[in-house]
Amino acid sequence: MEKREELYAGKAKSVFKTDDPNLFVLEFRDDTSAFDGEKKEQLQRKGMVNNKFNAFIMEKLEAAGIPTHFEGLLSDTESLVKNLDMIPVECVVRNVSAGSLCRRLGVEEGKELTPPTFELFLKNDALHDPMVNESLAVSFGWASADELARMKELTYKVNDVLKALFDEAGMLLVDYKLEFGRSNGAVVLGDEFSPDGCRIWDKETRKKMDKDRFRQGLGEVIETYEEVGGRLGIQFD
Ligand code: ADP
Ligand code: UDP
Repeated sequence: MEKREELYAGKAKSVFKTDDPNLFVLEFRDDTSAFDGEKKEQLQRKGMVNNKFNAFIMEKLEAAGIPTHFEGLLSDTESLVKNLDMIPVECVVRNVSAGSLCRRLGVEEGKELTPPTFELFLKNDALHDPMVNESLAVSFGWASADELARMKELTYKVNDVLKALFDEAGMLLVDYKLEFGRSNGAVVLGDEFSPDGCRIWDKETRKKMDKDRFRQGLGEVIETYEEVGGRLGIQFD
């Protein structure tokens, strides 16, 4: 496999073509952003930590029957993935109230949500990722009704797998965001699952162990990501 030209660079990762049109290289950079790119910093080791974290989680999800784009690790900061036609709608599941849900509805942080909630957001930084619904997604042609049903089914299935995984390691999976794409007509999980795109709290102390450490200036961001990984049994060095 030969790495070819860069196709696009997002806020934290870059996508490269390869000599195989079906495969891309996903490079995890140290760039870290929050508030739709308003707050930006380089955090040393983040690219490596998130690349290896994501590889571990994607392998767990594949093993549980969830189709993912992940093909394998290429280096500390690069993974080989399937070329997906990305669906511009983000899927969020919440087990506990936090973040934009609290701001939007005026509820306090930390309320258990039973059953877990499911939300859709349009991937559009300029518009601050507005909340949308299935009807809008279908009418604007972002995804078909069948695709949306599959995305919802898979997003909840991920919750079953990962809630248990974090729980066994003494952590609470508060919420997370997933992105899906199309490959040969099927809906496949793309992008990444790392502490950058989810909320994780220590079960006992409720210490924040995710990107809220960066958003809220709590410090020890990458050290804490590594602590989460360590508890799950991920080897970073
Ligand atoms: P953002 O777009 O939010 O700034 P990133 O920096 O993470 O995010 O950029 C990664 C980009 O790559 C995103 O636009 C994401 O949708 C896209 N992407 C992720 N996985 C794949 C894939 N398998 N095929 C094509 N594009 C992908
Ligand atoms: N999230 C993300 N990317 C986004 C928006 C949200 O990864 O563009 C994640 C976020 O880290 C959290 C979950 O999705 O784990 C729910 O985010 P929320 O809607 O509460 O928004 P935020 O507080 O991040 O603005």
